Amino acid sequence: MDIIHLLPDSVANQIAAGEVIQRPASCLKELVENSLDAGAKRIQVLVRDAGRTTLQVIDDGTGMSETDARLAFERHATSKIRDAKDLFSLRTMGFRGEALASICAVSQVEMTTRRAEDETGTLLEIHGSDVVRQEVCSCPVGTNIKVSNLFFNVPARRKFLKSDQTELRNLLTEFYHIVLVYPKVSFTFVHNDEILLELPAGTEKQRIEAVFGNSKRNVYTSAFVEVHTETEMVSIHGFVVKPENATRKAEQYFFVNSRYMRHPYFLKAVQTAYSGMLTNDYQPSFFLYFDLDPEAIDVNVHPTKTEIKFADEQTVFQILMAAVREALGKFTLAPTIDFDTQGNINIPVPPNQPAQQPRMGLDPTYNPFHTRGTIYPDRVPSNWSSLYEGIAPTTGNTQPSAFHPQQEQDILRAEDVENCPLWQYGGKYILLPGAGGLVLVNQHRAHTAILRASFLEQLGHRQGVMQQLLFPEVLELSQEELALVQPLLPDLRAIGFDIEQLTPDSYSIQGVPALLAGQSALPTLQHILSQVRERGADTQAEWREQIAQTLAENAAIPYGRTLTEPEMRDIVTKLVQLPVYRRTADGKTIVSLLSDEEINKRF
Ligand code: ADP
Ligand code: MG
Repeated sequence: MDIIHLLPDSVANQIAAGEVIQRPASCLKELVENSLDAGAKRIQVLVRDAGRTTLQVIDDGTGMSETDARLAFERHATSKIRDAKDLFSLRTMGFRGEALASICAVSQVEMTTRRAEDETGTLLEIHGSDVVRQEVCSCPVGTNIKVSNLFFNVPARRKFLKSDQTELRNLLTEFYHIVLVYPKVSFTFVHNDEILLELPAGTEKQRIEAVFGNSKRNVYTSAFVEVHTETEMVSIHGFVVKPENATRKAEQYFFVNSRYMRHPYFLKAVQTAYSGMLTNDYQPSFFLYFDLDPEAIDVNVHPTKTEIKFADEQTVFQILMAAVREALGKFTLAPTIDFDTQGNINIPVPPNQPAQQPRMGLDPTYNPFHTRGTIYPDRVPSNWSSLYEGIAPTTGNTQPSAFHPQQEQDILRAEDVENCPLWQYGGKYILLPGAGGLVLVNQHRAHTAILRASFLEQLGHRQGVMQQLLFPEVLELSQEELALVQPLLPDLRAIGFDIEQLTPDSYSIQGVPALLAGQSALPTLQHILSQVRERGADTQAEWREQIAQTLAENAAIPYGRTLTEPEMRDIVTKLVQLPVYRRTADGKTIVSLLSDEEINKRF
């Protein structure tokens, strides 16, 4: 039976006309969505020159009859709706019967298609809406559409296309939006004969891993916790990043009824759930899937829009925020070692072992178990990997850089720092000559280490310097946080917080440590609490370290700040006075040496 019928004009007009195909990415979206609508289980995307030359989608879906194949390219030809009211309760994606008609109007299309029940398939070639070939062919079940020379007959449009790099990025963005909601369908993405993505069918989690991770080791997804909530109005499930694994650049995805959506208001809900848990400009990554009655949303019918309006956005906001909070709360109460990840980490040689691997620099003072069991996956800076930072690549016949434990402390001496030249590089590093080479100092880490030591000292002597706040702030706490904050109060006051109990579950803050002047007190305090809770600080020594570390991170000069020469000298001078100055408390490199040998070898 032929299943395509023409939409009445009234319906067609009701549908936002607009331009369906603006760039290769919109073409890809339409073709892949058609394949999904056709029930495909395996979809291959083959692209040449970012879609400028060809864009081909091969599926194993239902295929089309000979008549349908021809009809598919007519405007408003669709097998998917009959009536305007269907538009509003629609769950399939392509519903306009416009995509293929638009695509074939601006390109050269070649399609082969066959249904399972047919012996032979149909080959169809259309150039700018003109059918140039239609014949019987032999082909596998499914549909194979190749779109060549997009916009060949619309020079203005073709000129409008951006660089291949940009168009390829657009293609991939569009592709991600789709593949993340269809984990049970396997996808391949090939660009100029290179396989960029090979995504086997699996679970949502496996799909996320396959797209964003770089191995089968679940290193990427183990940085996430699961969210799950079901209410009458909406059910939400998915994954949100553990606060400690947040990065500056986040992957943020909302999907509604299997469609990607942008939603700044709901983004705010997620951010609010993290408040106080993320430092500086770190952003939470998340993959959140909403399911709800299509009647309760207004899918903007314009095909290129990704905004979706919900009937009751405020309630969804609350539900979402609570769900993410709960997931994060559950996670922070759980033990922090992630066994998924653990087996895959290269555990460094324990410091007390003789240096059998001479290429590896070992910091004798570094104890990987100092911060309890927090193991970071490899997309974020890792404690473990930082052990190897600054070590020359071990390729070929290059001699390993002179980087031995006994030299750990020797590359910078206080007397050398007094008068030496200093440069700043990249808004991030201080460069200066040292013993045996060029010394690179990470400015933010260096300053954090200095401040940390100074805060610890102030805590020891109870001599923090307080700065009165212009406007007192109120810290509201959950029962759990209240229990957490009690033992910290004397130390928080010692370091310079003017903090008084206001009601049984809130505190007023009138002053902050002077070094934090100008910053809001609440995020810092909340950050301290979350660090204490996550890292587990049971003794005074431990929570003092958390307090000092958090304050130091917040007060330290950020990356990107231009430093004057006296500032640089001050930092380096103070840094070398620390008992351990080459690495942070959790093992990250602060100071690295580019040896004379390495420099000379370059010439
Ligand atoms: P719409 O998807 O909105 O119906 P399109 O122009 O994208 O409009 O497609 C027109 C029709 O062609 C679809 O309704 C469907 O019946 C058929 N079709 C398109 N692509 C495929 C495919 N890959 N497999 C099977 N049928 C397809
Ligand atoms: Mg379609």
